[in-house]
Amino acid sequence: MPKLVWRVKLVAEFETGERSEVEVARLERDEQAGLADLGLRLAEAKRLTAAIQTEIVPAQVTIAGEHRRTCVACGRFLASKGHYTATFRSLFGDVPVRIRRLLACPCQNGTEATSFAAFDLEAATVAPELAYVTARYAALAPFGKIAGLLSELLPISGGPNAGTVRNRTMRVGEAVVLPHVETTAERTAAQPAQPVVIGLDGGYVRSRHRQDERHFEVIAGKVIDTQGRQSRFAFARNSPVIASDAFKQALAVAGVTASTPATVLCDGDAGLWQLQRAALPNATIVLDWWHAAVRFEHALQAARGLGVADAHLAAEAVRGLERAKWRLWHGRWLGCRRKLAALCRWVRRTPICGAVGIGRLEHHVGELLGYLERNQRALVHYAARRRNGEPISTAFVESAVNEIIAKRMNKKQQMRWNRAAVQPFLDVRTAVLNDTLADAFRRRYPGFRPTNGNEAVALAA
Ligand SMILES: [Zn+2]
Repeated sequence: MPKLVWRVKLVAEFETGERSEVEVARLERDEQAGLADLGLRLAEAKRLTAAIQTEIVPAQVTIAGEHRRTCVACGRFLASKGHYTATFRSLFGDVPVRIRRLLACPCQNGTEATSFAAFDLEAATVAPELAYVTARYAALAPFGKIAGLLSELLPISGGPNAGTVRNRTMRVGEAVVLPHVETTAERTAAQPAQPVVIGLDGGYVRSRHRQDERHFEVIAGKVIDTQGRQSRFAFARNSPVIASDAFKQALAVAGVTASTPATVLCDGDAGLWQLQRAALPNATIVLDWWHAAVRFEHALQAARGLGVADAHLAAEAVRGLERAKWRLWHGRWLGCRRKLAALCRWVRRTPICGAVGIGRLEHHVGELLGYLERNQRALVHYAARRRNGEPISTAFVESAVNEIIAKRMNKKQQMRWNRAAVQPFLDVRTAVLNDTLADAFRRRYPGFRPTNGNEAVALAA
């Protein structure tokens, strides 16, 4: 049967007038093409891009290295100290490269190392784009799945390997996202203070070290400014000092300082209030309304349960609780406390204390009262806040907790984490969710995915 043949050639043209031509692919099809024969096959595209990469990368490394053959200070020609080989790992395959080492110029006497590489591949030799694509998707889906997808679509060398994806993602957290966070924190520190709302919540992650602990806690939160911009953050709850530093850094990234007018909402966890006091001592603090309301609901259910034995007792208990709840909603904490304390005394009164279900009511009312007392500084006029459109619930943070922790890392998933090592992954994940990952790469690698349209122009030319 007659064949159609296409040969793809790569033509290199250099400034020196040097020109070279190499065939990078040969595509063949029968003239009688079926649907599956139309156009490039994935395997061909992979071979083609890998072949182009194999040509371009060594040439670039060599030519860039030649530009460093003379001393930048005195212009003297630098002596070669031989070559070393390395592997450049990219989206389009692993490319072996030979890199020249140059002896430092005598004019730099003693101020530098005695020799240096003519091209700086850096320690990991992973292309920024490979690191970016890997981290971006590994933050959202299991490592093994991402390894499989990348090697299906791209001529990435070696088989799909979850461990490699994991290691590269962690490295992006350490080497790209964290330095970006630090510089962003410095840059935003001088901004004028706009009011912000901050929510804190915790979630549990499965621990790798089951002998020590089954789960450990990750604190996640969100900062929302007056324009509605959201900045998520997350950190493992290790020592109080580490957590406090991580929280301050997360705030700094969002442009929040100790003098920023801030409202902090949380569920009443004492550790979270400690974080707030250390970082934002002057903040308005608000106990999440729904956490209080749920405790009222438990007490109300216990009160209604009394009705099986005595409808009158049930009605009286329910009335007391509803009045207490109404007072709390309207910012009258002292009145609420009086009502709950009276209810506690009432259940202990002798004619009542033998009633079926009274123990359960006593337990729930006692717990409710204790919870509110522990958080009394954070009790506000909820009704007025709601009228003013101000947040009274941490629901907006729970969504952050779900995004950051639950979907990818919670108890139901197989993945286990080490509390000391999880931070780079959390940093990558929040950067992806905050849409700042590409910025972090741009800062770290000049020329990475330019935003000014140069790339589009270059492609059109
Ligand atoms: Zn010199």
